[in-house]
Amino acid sequence: MKKILVIVDMQNDFLTGALGNAECQKTIPAVAAQVRTGDYDKVFLTQDTHTADYLNTREGKNLPVEHCIEGTEGWKVNAEVLSAVDEVYGTASEKVSILTKPTFGSVTLAKELEAFYEKDKDLHIDFVGVCTGICVISNVMLAKAYCPEAELRVLSDACACVTTQSHVQALEAMKLCQVLVE
Ligand SMILES: [Zn+2]
Repeated sequence: MKKILVIVDMQNDFLTGALGNAECQKTIPAVAAQVRTGDYDKVFLTQDTHTADYLNTREGKNLPVEHCIEGTEGWKVNAEVLSAVDEVYGTASEKVSILTKPTFGSVTLAKELEAFYEKDKDLHIDFVGVCTGICVISNVMLAKAYCPEAELRVLSDACACVTTQSHVQALEAMKLCQVLVE
């Protein structure tokens, strides 16, 4: 069985920057600890990526807070998470892929997961990161659609959301779709 870790949007803007909060910040050591288990055959990191015209996009009109503008400090993956990934897997190795994405769910990630799945359906995929109710759930549901027989698990202590309530609601929604929540 192949084991994959998906680290969703652990970027400065969602932790300490424009859209950060204390709950999201608390996931940093939990995500780093999960990386340090060294348990995975492959690690994907997603990176929310917007351009300077963000405020004119549909997302920007609904959430008029500039964030994750490509190349800025806020766009970068948190240093502690990135250095854990580098230490254990080597960010330049083929075991690690960093995927930028223009919206909540990454179609590229789903297709990469599908490529593993086509080789071996006995696949286990763990998800960690932020925000549980937006980008984590979006990518989990895409993985569920592309890899229906894979075992999907969300590590709740290594995820956080805009509020505790939205975090819990998203975990419940994923449970309903037969995702393991631990
Ligand atoms: Zn965004």
